[in-house]
Amino acid sequence: MLGLMMQTPLLISSLIAHADRQHGDTPIVSRRVEDPQGPLHRTTWREVHRRSRQLANALAHLGVNRGDRVATLAWNTHRHLELYYAVSGSGAVCHTINPRLFEEQIAWILEDAGAEVVFFDASFADIAARLVARVPRVRHYIQLSERAELPNDFPAQLHAYEDLVHSHSEHFTWPQLEETAASGLCYTSGTTGNPKGVLYSHRSTVLHAYACALPDSFGVSARDVVMPVVPMYHVNAWGLPYIAALTGASLVLPGPLQDGPALHRLIVDEGVTLSNGVPTVWLGLLQHIAGKSEGLGRLRKLVIGGSACPPSMMDAFAQRGVEVLHAWGMTELSPIGVVNAPKADNATLDPTATAVRRNKQGRPLPGVELAILDEDDSPLPHDGASFGELVVRSPWAVRQYFGRAPGDGFTADGWFRTGDVATIDPAGYMQITDRAKDVIKSGGEWISSIELENILSAHPAVLEAAAIAVPHPKWDERPLMAVVLKPGTTLERNEMHAHFSGKVARWWIPEDLAIIAAIPHTATGKIDKRRLRDQFSEHRWPT
Ligand code: ADP
Repeated sequence: MLGLMMQTPLLISSLIAHADRQHGDTPIVSRRVEDPQGPLHRTTWREVHRRSRQLANALAHLGVNRGDRVATLAWNTHRHLELYYAVSGSGAVCHTINPRLFEEQIAWILEDAGAEVVFFDASFADIAARLVARVPRVRHYIQLSERAELPNDFPAQLHAYEDLVHSHSEHFTWPQLEETAASGLCYTSGTTGNPKGVLYSHRSTVLHAYACALPDSFGVSARDVVMPVVPMYHVNAWGLPYIAALTGASLVLPGPLQDGPALHRLIVDEGVTLSNGVPTVWLGLLQHIAGKSEGLGRLRKLVIGGSACPPSMMDAFAQRGVEVLHAWGMTELSPIGVVNAPKADNATLDPTATAVRRNKQGRPLPGVELAILDEDDSPLPHDGASFGELVVRSPWAVRQYFGRAPGDGFTADGWFRTGDVATIDPAGYMQITDRAKDVIKSGGEWISSIELENILSAHPAVLEAAAIAVPHPKWDERPLMAVVLKPGTTLERNEMHAHFSGKVARWWIPEDLAIIAAIPHTATGKIDKRRLRDQFSEHRWPT
């Protein structure tokens, strides 16, 4: 027997329509790409909705049909937000591309995605100009600016975004699409081979937003001022542009500036209450405010993930009254899988057990199932000690990569293989040991690079630390720490050994350290371990 409830589809357009109806006057604040240091752009959910409808008419005028891929190379701004809603809302696919990738990769992704329209910020006009010859299939280029700001020498016909918006009517009725229709396309950064496309649906996006907004997830409300620092070109800024519309929160969009001082100014001046980002970005903010009396305004919560958040970072923010919500996820998971929120029994844990739990990545959102598998794909116990490959199942997890054969990257019974190695404890908290390819294999046993990094990051002289596997004649591989020191400090090998002593098994203690000026990061802000491994592949171990 079927239920007798309405079959209203879960659509992205319903989020912006709701934000307009219920929170129309709520501010949307954005840095301008044209003048990042200048006055902020201020609009509202009502205006964003109105301009998205104008843009939807403009897309129809450009010949964009349902299912067509509309690419963006853009920062977090109100215009990018309008694109999110106009493109998906009208039934096309919002295909965000990371402009920090190599140009060949961007061209490759556009081809693979079959995109025919590209919207780009003025700061990426040079990249867009070089794509013209490389990707002949693109029919339309639109710069996200006024006409007066268009470059003179663009090698193809170029539209100005503001012209497009202004020349079209605001009368547009969002189509009643199937909720399973494609809404967005995002490529993994390809740290393991060619990038792969993950094709989100309206349903997966809306369900992900609902789950992320919950109190034990990000906990977002209409009283929040949310600043997505995760780029809108990286897994939809972890869903915040949708979550903010769903909850009626205010948005602060940092545009092209992600340095500590710029973020600090926005946090304080705009009363940001919640933000998100990878640890590297927050390291920049902490460095900026170190030793200063100025606080963090109304900031209460930071969602930190993308790579492991060092406990020392959680402490530093806690001292300033900001709770760090450690989260784990990936492009293939929309991206959020787990968030570290306390459970009722946290009240009964002693300080050591509390710290152990807090440092884990977290527990699954409702809708996410996790398992860990051994080499034969047999499930391992959730005892907090057994570790194996993490697999996942969820309505917002990828079922098949865009344009790839089914089954590639999945278990025989359809779970997605994350490529992460993890433990799960009896309370359900998952902890990432490593990415499978970053794990250090010493004498046949595994050493967690993340744990070594967490420990060394707490050393007072250390600004940032990365643990990598380096070939070793006797043990196969041994851990080497690549370390960036705080200005005016030093760190010797025996001091490092003393720091590790008692915190890990003796054989885990890193063999050596290399002081470097900067740790290389990938296009998504993670430590680029592949580059570090290449750099130190010939490292001479001390005798
Ligand atoms: P890529 O870096 O391949 O583009 P994603 O941005 O989707 O892809 O990154 C997903 C990966 O990032 C995860 O599989 C995991 O290895 C790592 N990751 C994400 N969050 C965390 C976290 N909190 N702790 C440790 N690793 C994390």
